[in-house]
Amino acid sequence: MSPATYRIAIVPGDGIGPEVMAEAVKVLRLVESLLKESRFELVELSIGAGEYLRSGEAIPPGTLDRMRQCSAILLGAVGIPEVRLPDGTEITSQIDLREQLDLYAGVRPVYLFHAHDSPLKRCRAGSIDLVIVRENTEGLFSSRKRPRRPAADVVEDVMHISRKNSARLFHYAFRLARTRRGEVTLVDKANVLPSMAFFRSVFDEVASQYPDVRTRRIYVDAAALYLIQAPQRFDVIVTENIFGDILSDLAAALVGGMGVAPSADIGDRHAVFQPAHGSAPDIAGQARANPTAMILSVGMMLEWLGTPELVRAGQWVRDGVRWVYGNPVNRTPDLGGCLSTAQMGDLICEAVERVARGDWDAA
Ligand code: ATP
Repeated sequence: MSPATYRIAIVPGDGIGPEVMAEAVKVLRLVESLLKESRFELVELSIGAGEYLRSGEAIPPGTLDRMRQCSAILLGAVGIPEVRLPDGTEITSQIDLREQLDLYAGVRPVYLFHAHDSPLKRCRAGSIDLVIVRENTEGLFSSRKRPRRPAADVVEDVMHISRKNSARLFHYAFRLARTRRGEVTLVDKANVLPSMAFFRSVFDEVASQYPDVRTRRIYVDAAALYLIQAPQRFDVIVTENIFGDILSDLAAALVGGMGVAPSADIGDRHAVFQPAHGSAPDIAGQARANPTAMILSVGMMLEWLGTPELVRAGQWVRDGVRWVYGNPVNRTPDLGGCLSTAQMGDLICEAVERVARGDWDAA
């Protein structure tokens, strides 16, 4: 049987995006060389602040359609602080993609590979293992293109919560919890905001369909506290768009920061895989960027593509990263080490190959 070909959009973006993407492609090509049933056709596309400067369009015409024709999309990072739209906001094409491709679940796994990398005391490797599932298409971000100006010197942003978008998000979180430790924590602000009380009522309805999954409901301020005090207690966290935006950076800090925080924006038909970090203009072009988050996002993509062979390949990537991070010398400058972006990418490739060939058993 001839191998199946998966068309993958490669979208490097701005800042450190192209640097971390180069390492992701290296890993993807290495994985491909180890597979029997799957091949990847890579299609390079350009979006973001650099593209806006070049062509006047952050997402050029036809680009979304080309993305829709791909099996999955890999995105580096978008945004350059000096490049602003006329209303003063930055180019945020990643948010446009979530809205236009209807990628309602922002999935952000947070895993501690080595005790050394956490600012918390007494956390052993693997003890922090949670996933934040963030609503991606509405919430407080929904009015970003339609701000309300009730008076000349007043601007309002609206928290928009709909039953449809909340329910499908919660179903995603419950299904995910079933593949993990079986618990979902809802994070909201139902004690103050009517929109959040509604969000919670939809959660309760959906929860009743998953009697096998344990649930907790906590307010977002308490969630920030508990994430620092006892992150080990969380399995799947599901939350509104801006709460997820903030808490996922906080949670990433618990395991070493943005350089090791992957993410996936998932819908029913399309999905974008990108590191949780931004374009990090402060370190762009210096070979200091940590490519691990981007590479772990490749692993998430392989698992999402879903054939048994690709699911296994996704696990090779994750286990390869675990193997590299098992030795605290193997670190880029964000984690106190001196490896360059490419050296980290090479080490992870070497480890993925060893895992795939059975030289290292993660269990
Ligand atoms: P955005 O709002 O687009 O998510 P941000 O303003 O939160 O972006 P980032 O670009 O994520 O900011 O950067 C936050 C900090 O983390 C910066 O100091 C940056 O250098 C650092 N950082 C982000 N990604 C990486 C990485 N892959 N490797 C090393 N440091 C990183």
